[in-house]
Amino acid sequence: MPSVTDVFRECHRLRTHLRNLIREIELGPRVLKGKQEELEEARQAHKEHHDSITRFKLKQREDEGSLKQTDTRLAKLGEQLLGTSVQKEYEAKQHEIAHAKAKKEQLEDAILNSMTEIEERTAAIPMIEKTWADAQAAFAEFQKQAAERLEMLKNDKAASEALLTKTEEGIPEDIRPRYDKLVKAHGPEAMAGVKGKSCQACRTDMTDQKIIELRRGEFMQCPTCGKMLFPV
Ligand SMILES: [Zn+2]
Repeated sequence: MPSVTDVFRECHRLRTHLRNLIREIELGPRVLKGKQEELEEARQAHKEHHDSITRFKLKQREDEGSLKQTDTRLAKLGEQLLGTSVQKEYEAKQHEIAHAKAKKEQLEDAILNSMTEIEERTAAIPMIEKTWADAQAAFAEFQKQAAERLEMLKNDKAASEALLTKTEEGIPEDIRPRYDKLVKAHGPEAMAGVKGKSCQACRTDMTDQKIIELRRGEFMQCPTCGKMLFPV
């Protein structure tokens, strides 16, 4: 039969392992949320790329309409200029023509800019589609792996809990209430290893006599920190 210190060593290992498993299981939803946010960002970037092409196409059409109007206006002003003999009116028409020409230039620049943007963004579509497809595939892969990992963690947890229960049956009856109380309060930290002569929890050195007793497998709590001890 294993000594109580052997039992504590195993209980300490199992309870530490179980605590890590539970932490990882509990972290799962938060990790998933992060991945969902990443996917959503990728979805928005993909949508925005296509939306921007639509916007530039719309702007180009509007600018082309305005350009046509400006051309018509310029032709009309040109005719009017020819029929003007009053100096003041002539100057006013010239001024109007210069203004319309500036607007025409502005519109032509804007149309050219829209065309360039549409061309570049259209050329980038295959890359954008690939980025979006990759993001979706990465998320699907994450989901698959996360589900497998969760399954493994849950199985490990169930097995470790069963083993812990069985191991704890090895704790002598007179010690069990104290053990239960301490693990309830401190979890795996209710127990500590002793390496050499030193308690691993509080670094206090034991007397030689205590070390001999501990190695013999006797129940002992650290005189300083109160943890149930086992030799490492
Ligand atoms: Zn201690």
